[in-house]
Amino acid sequence: MRIKVLGSAAGGGFPQWNCGCSNCSRLRAGEFKGGARTQAQVAVSPAPSTWLLLNASPDLRQQLLRDPDFAPPRRARSTPISGVVLTSADADCVLGLLHLREFEPLHIYSTEGVKRVLTEENSLFRTLERSTPPVEWKTLPLDRPMPISLGGAAGGDKSLCCRAVPLHGEFPDYVSERLRNSLPNEEAVIGLELIQEGKRLFYAPSLPGVGEEWKHTLADSQLALLDGTFWTDHELMDVRGGGKTAREIGHVPLSGPGGLLEQVDRSQNARRVLVHLNNTNPALDETSEANRMLREAGWQVAWDGMEFTL
Ligand SMILES: [Zn+2]
Repeated sequence: MRIKVLGSAAGGGFPQWNCGCSNCSRLRAGEFKGGARTQAQVAVSPAPSTWLLLNASPDLRQQLLRDPDFAPPRRARSTPISGVVLTSADADCVLGLLHLREFEPLHIYSTEGVKRVLTEENSLFRTLERSTPPVEWKTLPLDRPMPISLGGAAGGDKSLCCRAVPLHGEFPDYVSERLRNSLPNEEAVIGLELIQEGKRLFYAPSLPGVGEEWKHTLADSQLALLDGTFWTDHELMDVRGGGKTAREIGHVPLSGPGGLLEQVDRSQNARRVLVHLNNTNPALDETSEANRMLREAGWQVAWDGMEFTL
């Protein structure tokens, strides 16, 4: 399976349009050692000319247009993209679905809770239902591998399975209390374990870092693309002068007590790569102490265009 990181930043991207933090200001001024980044987006190819999107970034249109692998065949109205798997109903994970509304009969995989949030309370997503046949929503069960339909490609031994790993996050703020109270909380935020021919990719761009299931999944994987949103728990509060901690918005920070670096010991087999970096994260600066500490602990910081083969 091929894996591409099309976007490696958290919501807002890097730089963020309304942010004058040290990172964003220095990047604009050309004084920053590190690249600009679009909002988090990963694509997986289990077979030639067949792609599955992991979430749908607000930057999806731009990300697809700049990579010829996602172009339609010449003189045809078609796409190599067979479907999308969603990890949550956060705006940053789902806004890109609206870029895919041009009458393509895609498959969208999510937990039942995420599907209900998007289809019951957000009627704009019904624009996806206008294709013939309409977009097909498929429910991902928790903790049970489910075969992913690839439109005829990659059947048999090479079939791709996806297991939803509950991560104990919350539904987004915009969900009404009425609907929130009717949904099982473990369906709010999942990690994805993608399995093909014994190879395992673990994708968790929002990782609260509680419980043990995610650590077992990480231990079984060859490649893990994990939440690198914040370096410290109070990072966003420092920039905004108030607000919530990283943990309060569902992201375990990288540093500090109980941080990701402390929780993941370096004897792991998996290649460990950080995605979904917030523009305030000092690790984006390749000359920073944070970046050096990550590299020494065996982590890589993803960039837009990074590729892997499993
Ligand atoms: Zn910034």
